[in-house]
Amino acid sequence: MSRKAKVLFIEPTNLAPKNGEVIKFTGFVCPNCNGRGHFISSSGYHGSETKDIQTGCSQCEGEGKLRADVVVRWMPDKKEVE
Ligand SMILES: [Zn+2]
Repeated sequence: MSRKAKVLFIEPTNLAPKNGEVIKFTGFVCPNCNGRGHFISSSGYHGSETKDIQTGCSQCEGEGKLRADVVVRWMPDKKEVE
């Protein structure tokens, strides 16, 4: 099965902010609702009038897509004492 993925290459620069930098990746299809943003369920029984109930997706809050915020924090690579 094929899938679409995004790859992040990181490299320090002289301008790397000390508090960290945030890289945002947008446009991921929500895996919970498959991009619909909601779920539809039916409340009726056989022979009775049915009514579709729409429930918003709790993971994407109805957007159908997700965003990944990746935080990169640069610091000295000191040897750790064990
Ligand atoms: Zn969703």
